Amino acid sequence: MANIQSLISTDRKFHPICEVAGILGDKLGIEVYVVGGYVRDLIIGRELHDLDIMVVGDGIEFARQLAKVLSAGSFGKIKNVIPFERFGTAAILYQDGQIEVASARKEVYQFDSRKPAVSKTDLEGDLSRRDFNINAMAVSINRKNFGDLFDPYGGIRDLKAKIIRTPLDPDSTFSDDPLRMMRAVRFAAQLQFNLDQVVIESIERNVRRIEIVSSERITAEFYKILGTDQPSIGLELLQHAGLMKIIFPEISEMFGLEQPFEWHHKDIFYHTLQVVDNIAEVSDNLDLRFAGLVHDIGKPRTRRLESKKGWTFHGHDFLGAKMLEKIAQRMRLSNKTKDYLQKLVNLHLRPIALAKEGVTDAAIRRLMVDGGDEIDDLMILCRADITSKNPNLVRKYLGNFERVDLMIHDVKERDAMRAFQSPVRGDVIMKECGLKPGPVIGRIKKRIENAILEGEIENSYEAAFDYLNKIKDEYASK
Ligand code: ATP
Ligand code: MG
Repeated sequence: MANIQSLISTDRKFHPICEVAGILGDKLGIEVYVVGGYVRDLIIGRELHDLDIMVVGDGIEFARQLAKVLSAGSFGKIKNVIPFERFGTAAILYQDGQIEVASARKEVYQFDSRKPAVSKTDLEGDLSRRDFNINAMAVSINRKNFGDLFDPYGGIRDLKAKIIRTPLDPDSTFSDDPLRMMRAVRFAAQLQFNLDQVVIESIERNVRRIEIVSSERITAEFYKILGTDQPSIGLELLQHAGLMKIIFPEISEMFGLEQPFEWHHKDIFYHTLQVVDNIAEVSDNLDLRFAGLVHDIGKPRTRRLESKKGWTFHGHDFLGAKMLEKIAQRMRLSNKTKDYLQKLVNLHLRPIALAKEGVTDAAIRRLMVDGGDEIDDLMILCRADITSKNPNLVRKYLGNFERVDLMIHDVKERDAMRAFQSPVRGDVIMKECGLKPGPVIGRIKKRIENAILEGEIENSYEAAFDYLNKIKDEYASK
C-alpha cells in the first residue's frame, strides 16, 4: 500500500478539514476517504478545487456531524448543509468554498436516462463507478492509516503516462452516462492528456447517446473546454470524435471548407480554432472565446465561388448573428450572452474594413458607438482574427489595425477631455484664497485645469485642491 505523501511534493498539503473529518470518522467508527479530482490534482500538482469526501456509511448524516464540528472550530461560518437524498450525498457550504460528502455508492442506469438508481457499496465498488482511472483513486484520512492510497485501476500509472482510460468497459461507461464523453474530452484538454485509443473508438460508437443529456449539462462542459489554456485541443477532439456534429453542427460544418488564403487558414474550421486560441492567450472571458468560435459561423451558408474573386462570403457577419438566435436557444445561453455574441459577430469585420479603407475620426466614433461597452472585446476578437501564416500580410494588416486601435484610444481620451470639468469649483477657490468674485477666480481655475491637462497633477478633487493650496499665495489679496 503506497502512502500518498511519497507521491506528492512536500509543499503540497492536505486541506486541514481532512484531519478533522478523519478524527470524526474514527469517533463514529467509519471509513473516510478523500476521492476523485482532489486526489488527482494533489498528485499532479495542479491547483486544488472542491474537496470531495467519501464515507463508507451514511454520507448525509456524516456531513451534518462534520458541519457541527467545523462550526465549533476555526473554519469560519458554515453556511449550509444541502442534502441530496436520492444520491446519498450532501454539500457543506462554508466561507471559502464547498465540500462534497458522499456515501460510497453503486449506480445502475436505465437506458433512456443518465439518472441512476443508487445503492450502498464499499470503497472498491464506489471507485469502480467513477468515470476515469485518474479520477478513481481514494486516500484514507482516518487517523490510523492517514494518507494510504487506494488505486485499484492504475490511476497513478495513467497520470504518469498522461492518458485517459476508464475503469470498466468504456462502452458501458459512456452509454450509462454519456456526459462522460464530454468529460473525457474536457480532461484531455484541461490536463493535456491523450485519450486512450479504445476510449476514442468507444466514444465514436456511442456519440448518439449524448442526446439523452440535458442541454444545460452539455453547455456547462462545453464552456469548461473553452476555458482551457488551449481550447483548440478539446474542440478538435470533439470534432474528430463526432460529438461536435451533434452538439454544435454549425461549427462542425466549417470542417474541411476551403476559403481563400488572405489572412486566414485555408480551412474555416482550423482558422476558427486558431482564433479561439489567440483569444485564450490574452483573455479569460469565456463569452469572448465563444464569440471567437462563432464569428465565422455564417461562412458555410454564404460561401460562393465568384469567377474573379474566388470564394466569397457576403453577409456572413449578419447571417452568423442571426444563426445565434437558434444556437442560444438550443444551448440555453442567457439573453445577455446571446446579445453579446450577436453584437461581436455582427461587427467583427468593421475594424478590419476601417484598417483597409482608411480611417477617419468619424468612422471610428461610429464604430465606438456601435460597439459600446464591447468595443475593447471586439478589438481583441479582430486582432485574434488575423491568423495568416504569411508574415508580410500579417504585418500589413496588423500595422493598419494598430492605427485603428490607437485612434480608438485617442478618441476615447479626447472625448473624456471634451466632457472634462475642473474638479474644484469657483466657490471653493474663493473660500480657500479669501477672494471675492472676479476675473482672478477664472484665472486660477484655468491654471488648475492646465495643470491637469499637462499631466502635472491627477484629474481628481484631492490633487486639484492640494495644487490650489500650493499656488494660492501668488493670488492672495491681489
Ligand atoms: P474538476 O472539479 O476539476 O472539474 P473533478 O474530477 O473533481 O474535476 P467533479 O465533477 O468535481 O470532477 O467530480 C468529482 C469526482 O466524481 C470525479 O473525479 C469522478 O471521480 C466522479 N465523477 C464526477 N462526475 C462523474 C460522472 N459523470 N461519472 C462518473 N464519475 C463521475
Ligand atoms: Mg471537483
